[in-house]
Amino acid sequence: AAVIVAIDGPSGTGKSSTSKAVAAKLGLSYLDTGAQYRAITWWMISNGIDIDDPAEIAVAAAKPVIVSGTDPSAPTITVDGEDASGPIRTQDVTSKVSAVSAVPEVRALITQLQRDIAAGAGQGIVVEGRDIGTTVLPDADLKVFLTASPEARAARRSGEIKGADVTATKEALIKRDAADSGRKTSPLAKADDAVEVDTTELTLDQVIECVVTLIEE
Ligand code: C5P
Repeated sequence: AAVIVAIDGPSGTGKSSTSKAVAAKLGLSYLDTGAQYRAITWWMISNGIDIDDPAEIAVAAAKPVIVSGTDPSAPTITVDGEDASGPIRTQDVTSKVSAVSAVPEVRALITQLQRDIAAGAGQGIVVEGRDIGTTVLPDADLKVFLTASPEARAARRSGEIKGADVTATKEALIKRDAADSGRKTSPLAKADDAVEVDTTELTLDQVIECVVTLIEE
């Protein structure tokens, strides 16, 4: 049967790198749900939607067509047929994505998209996000919740961004996690039956090994 793996946690804990590597190793599909929320945010910004107006966001939410490619060695994301992989990583999108993803209509649409993709993944799928184990795929075969100290997370994230300041990155991360944890609809949260892995002192290879072992158990 298809194996469904949910990997949740705040940013900078190694979710993406771990999920991609585990999926590639086990021949599974891979879905980056943060990329989907970033894509809808990019569309909202590009189309002049007022990010501070949840009602306006709710009305527009169904307009963009978001398509995710689930090959872990070459994941893709398009919005209305256009490659969005570059623009969704800008600071502008990063600073606005929490507000857009807090709108219940946005979450309902993206959650349905995620469930359809998971149901269509032949061998199975590794899905990474914030609410996968709690809300999107509560029946997942394995749920992992990754954590790390704020310092480790900021250091990893600023390593990925050219010319980034670690202190500013840390403040932005903490702010985004607080917004994601504090929203009413499916906040960032650990499922009761998730295995928590603190990655602060672990290398990426060790985290990958840990998750692979948990799947094979
Ligand atoms: O994982 P990433 O940092 O790319 O996620 C970007 C944002 O998308 C998060 O900060 C959060 O606001 C939103 N998100 C979410 N639910 C998910 C995945 C991401 O609300 N399952």
